[in-house]
Amino acid sequence: MNSKTIFEKSQENRVGIKLPPLDVDTSPILPEYLRRKAKAKLPELSEFDVIRHFTNLSSKNFSIDKNFYPLGSCTMKYNPKIIEKIASLEGFSSLHPHLITNDEEDSVQGALEVIDDLQNYLCEITGMEAFTTTPQAGAHGEMLGMMLIDSYHKEKNNKQKKYVIIPDSSHGTNPATVTMIGYKVITIKSDENGYMDFEEFKKKMNDEVAAVMLTVPNTLGIFNKKIKDLCDIAHEYDALMYYDGANMNAILGVVRPGDIGFDVMHINVHKTFATPHGGGGPGSGPVGVNHKLKEFLPDLGIYKKDDKYFFNKNMENSIGKISPFFGNYGISLRAIAYMKILGKEGMQNASKKAVLNANYILARLKPYFDVPYDMICMHECVLSAKSLKKKYEVSAMDIAKYLIDFNLHAPTVYFPLTVPEAIMIEPTETENKQSIDEFCDKMIEAVKLAETNPKEFLNYPKTLGVCRPDDTRAIKELDVRSIH
Ligand SMILES: *Cc1c(COP(=O)(O)O)cnc(C)c1O
Repeated sequence: MNSKTIFEKSQENRVGIKLPPLDVDTSPILPEYLRRKAKAKLPELSEFDVIRHFTNLSSKNFSIDKNFYPLGSCTMKYNPKIIEKIASLEGFSSLHPHLITNDEEDSVQGALEVIDDLQNYLCEITGMEAFTTTPQAGAHGEMLGMMLIDSYHKEKNNKQKKYVIIPDSSHGTNPATVTMIGYKVITIKSDENGYMDFEEFKKKMNDEVAAVMLTVPNTLGIFNKKIKDLCDIAHEYDALMYYDGANMNAILGVVRPGDIGFDVMHINVHKTFATPHGGGGPGSGPVGVNHKLKEFLPDLGIYKKDDKYFFNKNMENSIGKISPFFGNYGISLRAIAYMKILGKEGMQNASKKAVLNANYILARLKPYFDVPYDMICMHECVLSAKSLKKKYEVSAMDIAKYLIDFNLHAPTVYFPLTVPEAIMIEPTETENKQSIDEFCDKMIEAVKLAETNPKEFLNYPKTLGVCRPDDTRAIKELDVRSIH
């Protein structure tokens, strides 16, 4: 029996509808001895059973649409539903990606306009000269950025370049990327303000440094006031400045990395420009460059001439392809929709409110927690449960587990690694005062519980199927059946 008849039969049996025969050659390709002798034992479930199963599963999942999601460093803002509608418009969603590779420019003018618009908007927002939308995540963008830097040094015959300077507060992807591209990491510690130590930086800077990779504002939620000086010093040694733009949500329309002196950057479009993300995807990490690196960009370029878009075929020094079809197109589409809906003023306001919200939380919680860097923060604030741990044996993890029972997503804990018992809170601009206050009240309640009955924390969360798994063992021997 070939697959065509199986398909038709199963359709007839299940729902009584006869579908038209498949218009494909379904003759068996597998040799006889490899083919199934008996029918596959597939689970037989009705549509209703399946719907009920997945609906129940989805309601177990926590998302920003359900409640506050202050996961620091992740920018879990509300994703307006109109943007999902735009992204699913037939004209976009049913485009075949090969229309791009087949040079069918005429039939994809609208799609190309979206990419060109997005690249231009990103240039305007960041002060960079050119952008590519091809990288499919922030970390992928970092990798491309480092490849471009590598190409630059190879082209200039800068053979002595071996090192990349990174502060100890960086996101883990930064040193991982640098190592993957074949450079060695020089880690520089943070000073008492949370900045990369300036004197130490000057000491480590020399002709062998290929690049300096910085996150601005950094993962402590702090904007380095010496950032311009850092760029100038690095450039004296022909080291390129890489800007990890995952925290752009703090400075949209306020500061432009290109104006500060950065040569290359990525931007986490899924974070800053509102695409539902988490659990590993989907993402998009466009990379922007200045004149020094423009020629090396990936070879999927487009240009506009007389109101028409064309593929750029003259990219001789391009590093080639890093992903197909202009990257994660659906995310580009969501980003441009978001930008057009908000406009310049809307995006500026978003950033200002994100910063205001984080500072409000910091001010409310300061009397109850340790504050490692006590100053105005940017889009996120970092607290520490160091004293709670010392006095009452209540850790950052205990606080996180406690919050879960009140329908709150926990903040990021134990990151950045430089802060002991770190609790990192990023409210974003889309939360209102009421929900932020409710969160702060719960955090304060947790501290009061620590003071009065610290042992009680061991019982939280009380409402979940799995409460306190042995994290290390769960990674190696995951047993999902124990979730009831
Ligand atoms: C999220 C993040 C990244 C990595 O981005 P992905 O899109 O998750 O790959 C890199 N740097 C910083 C500072 C981040 O917050």
